[in-house]
Amino acid sequence: MDNGARLRLLGEGARFDVSVPSTLAAQTALADRPGSIYEALSPDGRRVRLLKVLLSNACRYDCAYCATRCSRDIPRASFRPEELARLTDELTRAGLISGLFLSSGIVGDADNQMARMIETVELLRHKHQYRNYIHLKLLPGVSEAAVTTALGLADRLSLNLEAPGPERLSAICPGKSFERDLVRPLRWARRLAAPGQLRSGLTTQFVVGAAGESDRELIATTWRLSAEIGLARAYFSGFQPVPDTPLENAEPIPAGREHRLYQAEFLTRAYGFALDDLVFDEQGMLPIDLDPKMAAALAHEEDFPIEVNTADRSQLLRVPGIGPTSAERILQVRGKHKLTALRHLQILGARTDRARNFITLGGRYYPREEPALQLSMGL
Ligand code: SF4
Repeated sequence: MDNGARLRLLGEGARFDVSVPSTLAAQTALADRPGSIYEALSPDGRRVRLLKVLLSNACRYDCAYCATRCSRDIPRASFRPEELARLTDELTRAGLISGLFLSSGIVGDADNQMARMIETVELLRHKHQYRNYIHLKLLPGVSEAAVTTALGLADRLSLNLEAPGPERLSAICPGKSFERDLVRPLRWARRLAAPGQLRSGLTTQFVVGAAGESDRELIATTWRLSAEIGLARAYFSGFQPVPDTPLENAEPIPAGREHRLYQAEFLTRAYGFALDDLVFDEQGMLPIDLDPKMAAALAHEEDFPIEVNTADRSQLLRVPGIGPTSAERILQVRGKHKLTALRHLQILGARTDRARNFITLGGRYYPREEPALQLSMGL
């Protein structure tokens, strides 16, 4: 199989991995390399194009949702480390990509395959003098030594948890231990990272809905691990059925569920929300027709309205339409000028159409009816 055909096949195998620097924006329309080059926004707002590829799509595991599972009859291929390193360097020099996202199926022992991925990145860094962004996947079950080596090479490391706990994992990924194979390498990465390493953080990913888990389970696990090992973020990839797998007739997960999970996770990460501040239904699901911040505010009406001129930062961040940036501006400006009109908040970046039912300005209240119906999107 030539390089182009392998790139298509192994790029397609990496399609469901969404662990890119920030929100996946779009797949580029490179006609000869579909499924291998993706565009994303970096944390500082730059557009980056990643070659997203597997080193091999051969795998000994049989995960129920996965297109690459061992019992599926599909063409298998691999790159040798020197081939993929050279190809990545050539695509970068040609201006087609600005970074690499490297994952792999697991052929044989996890450390052996991880060693081949590490060799690829070492060749890039040392032989090709590659200084661009590299996101390297840690394979389930890798050793502490492999994690230590990977830390010295990649900008970002990640390891997919797939499900929010041991029981859910065993339902879809037989043979993987949640704590030993998945959580432990993430803990090592956090503990062993030297200053200057992991510049783009440590992340994980869940396959949403494949194991029948609730949103509450997903957010609870993310919240716990973020506190314990400082996850930069979690990615939520909605389950999509793949032909010729045990879940081929299961319902796909709508994009709206992913969106609400990202919003809820962001509230816990950037707004200081605790798990119990969020609103879940009896099945542990986030409301689909209302964003999580608005749902939380409406569920705690007794806390509102708050007076913008005296509220502390955490109170301001509970108000729909006020985010971390506008909250900081409010705190700075109100020390010199009293805020007395909605337009003052608009100038500071707040969404007053969302905020007005939850605040007073100089004691004056500006309510509007039915905020939930009008304001169901965004934070
Ligand atoms: S370990 Fe599981 S999810 Fe990963 S490639 Fe193999 S079968 Fe797919």
